[in-house]
Amino acid sequence: MKEYDVIVVGAGPAGCAAAKAASRQGASVIMIEEHPVIGAPRHCPGRLHSSSFTREILEDLDPRVIVCEYRSRRYFAPSGRVIKETPLPPGSVYQVQRDEFDRELARQAALAGAEIVLSTLVTGLYKERTASGA
Ligand SMILES: Cc1cc2nc3c(=O)[nH]c(=O)nc-3n(C[C@H](O)[C@H](O)[C@H](O)COP(=O)(O)OP(=O)(O)OC[C@H]3O[C@@H](n4cnc5c(N)ncnc54)[C@H](O)[C@@H]3O)c2cc1C
Repeated sequence: MKEYDVIVVGAGPAGCAAAKAASRQGASVIMIEEHPVIGAPRHCPGRLHSSSFTREILEDLDPRVIVCEYRSRRYFAPSGRVIKETPLPPGSVYQVQRDEFDRELARQAALAGAEIVLSTLVTGLYKERTASGA
């Protein structure tokens, strides 16, 4: 049986980011995903806000995954008329292809050294006693 320093359950953005970060720190990492394909089923339309979590992702992201950058936010009346438009600072909100985005993050985790296992549902965790009894 193979042993790992880190086991990541789920290959969504959080799991991929954790797997990549741990691998980059030198940990041996396995990431286990229940679905046969990463990014499917698609979880959301993929509006990506720049934040401390997403900034590092955006830096490493293949630009082909980015569909567009949002320049403003528009508010519509029920009639469809634009009643307000506020500009967005450059680099703050992007539209990404969410399925491709997830796969790109998984690719980065794999490049960092993480092993990825698909079609495997984690159903529980078993704690083993160590020699010290901990
Ligand atoms: C309708 C909708 C619209 C949204 N729109 C946006 C948006 O525009 N912008 C935005 O930033 N966010 C949006 N979100 C939120 C966004 O989808 C989530 O915040 C994001 O997917 C969370 O990422 P995650 O990695 O934590 O979890 P997930 O993306 O849910 O990934 C978890 C992964 O773990 C796998 N998994 C779970 N349990 C197990 C198990 N036991 N064994 C193996 N694998 C397992 C799942 O199959 C899944 O692939 C939206 C969400 C919804 C529902």
